[in-house]
Amino acid sequence: MIVRKAEQKIAELLKPVAGEDARTEAVFLLRASGFHSPYQELSETDAKLLEPLIERRLSGEPLQYVLGEWEFYGLPFYVDETVLIPRPDTERLAETALSLLSEDKRDVLDLCCGSGCIGITLAALGGAHVTAADISSDALSMTERNARRNGVSVRTVQSDLFDSVEGTFDLIVSNPPYLSQAEIDARDESLRFEPALALYGGKDGMDFYRRIAKDYRHFLRPGGALLLEIGYTQREAVEALFANSECIEDYGGRPRVIVVRNDD
Ligand code: GLN
Repeated sequence: MIVRKAEQKIAELLKPVAGEDARTEAVFLLRASGFHSPYQELSETDAKLLEPLIERRLSGEPLQYVLGEWEFYGLPFYVDETVLIPRPDTERLAETALSLLSEDKRDVLDLCCGSGCIGITLAALGGAHVTAADISSDALSMTERNARRNGVSVRTVQSDLFDSVEGTFDLIVSNPPYLSQAEIDARDESLRFEPALALYGGKDGMDFYRRIAKDYRHFLRPGGALLLEIGYTQREAVEALFANSECIEDYGGRPRVIVVRNDD
């Protein structure tokens, strides 16, 4: 069977979970297995190797985990169920942080780093010197793998927010867990595969912002900035925690990034 034909067959199988994305997902799965050209021949054995991947996807596991990698800001990142899947919404935060880096302002702390996608993007594309912190040792191992994959080095620290972080930084970037208990309870199938540790922000989803607001000044240099991803309903609540903040929208026009400048 040629790849084009296999694409059609896999897309047919994936329809119940992938809907109109089924064809694209079939292409991703084939490419991840080394089949790029539409007219390449696929043997019976090759087709068998794809079966477990298709099964996983059919069980509701997100495509990104099945592939084991995903792109963020045009860079490749390994992902598995110990870290959140990098999202386009978070690219807005990375883009804003990149615009704030300069020759003499490039010490960055990525708090709750997960896969490492934000910090590593800033190191790879902005020459940032990055410290990446997370409470999860699995996440820190993933960040280290991803740093190697992108040819940069980042310092990793196992830390519950700022608890074990040392030093001061020009930029602090964070996509902390921010879903409320109600949102966690109502979360759809795909989010159930992602680590609750990385999603659950306490009863009202605000726990991490409150703790960050209490402590960030000790770690942010004068002239520096704190950049936080937020849920699109959290703008007012997060703004109320910080004086002098500015809100930036994501590409869908929803409030997504809070920038707090340290102007003193
Ligand atoms: N953006 C994610 C979602 O809504 C949540 C990410 C987070 O809690 N940091 O699914």
